[in-house]
Amino acid sequence: MKFAVTSKGDTVSNTLMHKMKAYLMDFQLEYDEDKPDIVISVGGDGTLLYAFHRYRSRLDKTAFVGVHTGHLGFYADWVPDEIEKLVIAIAKTPYQVVEYPLLEVIIRHNDGGREARYLALNECTVKAIEGSLVMDVEIKGQLFETFRGDGLCMSTPSGSTAYNKALGGAILHPSIPAIQVAEMASINNRVFRTVGSPLVLPDHHTCLLKPVNDVDFQITIDHLTLLHKDVKSIQCRVANEKIRFARFRPFPFWKRVRDSFITE
Ligand code: NAP
Repeated sequence: MKFAVTSKGDTVSNTLMHKMKAYLMDFQLEYDEDKPDIVISVGGDGTLLYAFHRYRSRLDKTAFVGVHTGHLGFYADWVPDEIEKLVIAIAKTPYQVVEYPLLEVIIRHNDGGREARYLALNECTVKAIEGSLVMDVEIKGQLFETFRGDGLCMSTPSGSTAYNKALGGAILHPSIPAIQVAEMASINNRVFRTVGSPLVLPDHHTCLLKPVNDVDFQITIDHLTLLHKDVKSIQCRVANEKIRFARFRPFPFWKRVRDSFITE
């Protein structure tokens, strides 16, 4: 089996990364940064987001596992004290694969139908460059509302505990193939009206954002911030691709939620 290890870049994570690499090579596993079967991310959830984007083109062939060197993570659930156990598990046991849904974002431009496609593990956010964001929101081909406010956040179930949660969105179990649309400070008065609640869309529904005035936007895909000019529409839906996590022991999602937000 081929493996790669990515690190957050701090001293603790780098030391662990080198240790794991050496241990796994002692077990005759081959280190291959380009085509790994398994990627071990050492750091936090943010580190796993980087690893996901780095290996985005081989999601069907690569499984991820996360070791956290800070607080407990949603994607990084092994602690540094357990790395010997994890190395033995990777080297010796056939692992179970758990798949989580991803968000597909297609940005179309006015000039000649140019389009860009992205996959997000956590979310996509859309904000205006200046002033309020004004967007027609279509769901499954029907105009749903005209949004005015700071921005919109479209998240995956596993991303629902990240930015989406700070916006008052619901926490979705990652076994549900859905995306969630959450508002950022919508303007609601006698003139402007939005639904105000986060929406959860199933995998056969598409959310299409169409600019009303401005056509330049600041768009984030997980940790990446992009500037898109002359935008015609932004289409969000559940992607066909999934991220695959290597599971060596059960760690129920609701326990992770409790340990992260309520008590460890
Ligand atoms: P960052 O600003 O350095 O860290 C964002 C925080 O979100 C970190 O504590 C990170 O955990 C945590 N996080 C990431 N994914 C998570 C998940 N699925 N569930 C729960 N917590 C999660 O940025 P970054 O490390 O590059 O990560 C980018 C992410 O930051 C974005 O995808 C977005 O979700 C999040 N963000 C949140 C807010 C907000 O809550 N108001 C605002 C902007 C962006 P670790 O410490 O374990 O890495």
